Amino acid sequence: MDIKYFDNSATTKVKEEVLKEMLPYLVKEYGNPSSLYTIGRSARRAIENARQRVASLLHCHSDEIYFTSCGSESDNMALKGSAYLEKYVMKSNKNHIITSRIEHPAILNTCESLEKQGFEITHLNVDEEGFISLQDLENSITDRTILVSIMFANNEIGTIEPIEKIAQITKSHGVLFHTDAVQAVGNVDIDVQKMGIDMLSLSGHKIYAPKGIGAIYIKRGIGIERFLDGGHQEKNKRAGTENVAQIVALGKACELAERNLDSYGHRLQELRDYFFEEIQRNFKDVKINGSLEERLPGNCNVCFKNVDSSELILRLDSEGFCVSGGSACSSGDNSVSHVLQAIGVPSDLAKGAVRVTFGEFNRKDEVDEFIETLKRYV
Ligand SMILES: *Cc1c(COP(=O)(O)O)cnc(C)c1O
Repeated sequence: MDIKYFDNSATTKVKEEVLKEMLPYLVKEYGNPSSLYTIGRSARRAIENARQRVASLLHCHSDEIYFTSCGSESDNMALKGSAYLEKYVMKSNKNHIITSRIEHPAILNTCESLEKQGFEITHLNVDEEGFISLQDLENSITDRTILVSIMFANNEIGTIEPIEKIAQITKSHGVLFHTDAVQAVGNVDIDVQKMGIDMLSLSGHKIYAPKGIGAIYIKRGIGIERFLDGGHQEKNKRAGTENVAQIVALGKACELAERNLDSYGHRLQELRDYFFEEIQRNFKDVKINGSLEERLPGNCNVCFKNVDSSELILRLDSEGFCVSGGSACSSGDNSVSHVLQAIGVPSDLAKGAVRVTFGEFNRKDEVDEFIETLKRYV
């Protein structure tokens, strides 16, 4: 049976070109990039080439890109790195961080951990489409605020936050702005300089590189406390011998993403709009979650009334379809998605949530097949 993979926000398949480019760094050019001989130097060159490619996608300088082990680590690094710098290095009385209720667990649980260490966290509410209120943000900033961290685009409902406006507000108050852009990178055009972003997290496995590689953009001049103690790698911010092959893979994935950005986004958006049309034409008791305007091109999230989504997902799986419920991270636990809760979806309806996220390898006839299968099971 063919797999029809509609869960590209959970992870993506590694592209052939990406795999091909990374493999030599496991078996041929396997030197330590800190070594002086030829295969060490070629590993170093490969890392710096990859850094350049990531920077090019984000429109920043390559010395503003740091490689990490995943998107979650980048989020930890941004939040803890700036919080610890204030507390332990600057010894200032700043102790406040602002985020939203609909962040990924990598942000929410990092905030929870910081809260236990005495930092104060404000969670901004969102409206029924998932947007934070700029007025609330402005009102929440105090003279003790270190950082605002608001996701670029939500992983469950696809809502794209007003990033440039958020950055204008944080800048006018002299507060740092970090954004978890793991879902947005490669899907929408991001210019960190023009948008006024201070720090940004991204992850390889959401853009056709392997799992276990990420990066963070930190604007020149912004200090954060070192995240991992040890050697001098990553400008002394993150120790550990570089994961050369995967860094190369991430660089290649970013190069492809930059080259294909417009056509990729356009193709996904066509699939998304087609799916929404077909859903509304074929089902009566269905609600579309999130914004229809400011939305990730490949994201669909719908609630079916009187449907248990985990049961539906398993039946769809038996037909070869991979989709998720609330979010991939909460699979196996039956609690209602914190995102759907935050946008005010009643919990009985939220239990019937299905997230369909399109990617590079999806085609329209798969969507047709999917709609027919849904008609049978819903
Ligand atoms: C997937 C994801 C992460 C975590 O990235 P990993 O590389 O899996 O750690 C963080 N934030 C968002 C919005 C995500 O979608």
